[in-house]
Amino acid sequence: HAKQQGGNRAQFNNPTINAAVKRTFNLENELQHALENEEFFIHYQPIVDLQNKDIVELEALLRWENSKYGYISPDEFIPILEETGLIRKVGKWILKTVSEQINSWHKQDIHLSKVAVNISPIQFNDENFIRDLHEILQETQLNPKYLNFEITENVLYDFNKSLDILYKLHNLHINISIDDFGTGYSSLSYLKFLPIDTIKIDKSFIDNLDEDGKMIVQSIITMGKNLHYTLIAEGIETEKQLEFLKMLGCERGQGYLFSTPLSTDAVTRLLGRNSVTKHLL
Ligand code: C2E
Ligand code: MG
Ligand code: MG
Ligand code: MG
Repeated sequence: HAKQQGGNRAQFNNPTINAAVKRTFNLENELQHALENEEFFIHYQPIVDLQNKDIVELEALLRWENSKYGYISPDEFIPILEETGLIRKVGKWILKTVSEQINSWHKQDIHLSKVAVNISPIQFNDENFIRDLHEILQETQLNPKYLNFEITENVLYDFNKSLDILYKLHNLHINISIDDFGTGYSSLSYLKFLPIDTIKIDKSFIDNLDEDGKMIVQSIITMGKNLHYTLIAEGIETEKQLEFLKMLGCERGQGYLFSTPLSTDAVTRLLGRNSVTKHLL
């Protein structure tokens, strides 16, 4: 009984809510030790040139496998990492792991222009973010020009602060991509004042290419191109979507039609068997 446990605390009598709260609580407990237990790993999804399906970039995506709960989706555990603040430590680990992996690929003569890393709003706005980044670059000796940071529009709520951080990254030649573009509240007229290189059109638009949907995607692509952004369409699953996006002049894409996210070994094999500069799927 909630009353007995905590006086005025909210009571959860709904069994579904109870189960969800309990699961979040349990996952949160498991996440406290996930880093030291080495339960995290990273998969890499190819981003391709839509004209010839060359792999032009990879996106690093965090994976978590826990002994009690098995494989958990990032959509479930990333919000818990953010609410608990654990994302700061985990985010650092991701950056370091990806940087070491890029170095390792270089040693194997595998060269990619960039690897994209998702940066949580909490990580981005943390006062130690830039210092931690420099520390990792120092430790790994990675040239930061191989990195691309993916942030969402809602990261940029404080324009002046964002401008300052983004220019620090820009000066290191780290590319900035706006992830899930179109799902937040900002517009291209706001973003154009920031040093941003790439717009990733959210999968929800690619899923919805009826008459109105086509118009929306077409306007994003036309505006994006006129403002000189690189455009990436997310979540391409069908030939039909691919043909439409090519017709509109969208340059790059990502999705199960080309490849799902791959383990480090699988991506190393895939890139290693192709020529040094061209990676065909
Ligand atoms: P995101 O950054 O927008 O990543 C794209 C998501 O779409 C990935 O899901 C990817 O596996 C999925 N995807 C790609 N192509 C297709 C497709 O054709 N069909 C479908 N149905 N899905 C596709 P994932 O890996 O489950 O990640 C979900 C979200 O979790 C990411 O969305 C990102 O917001 C967050 N996330 C994942 N890894 C990280 C990370 O390392 N750090 C942070 N901060 N967030 C991460
Ligand atoms: Mg992303
Ligand atoms: Mg996205
Ligand atoms: Mg997403």
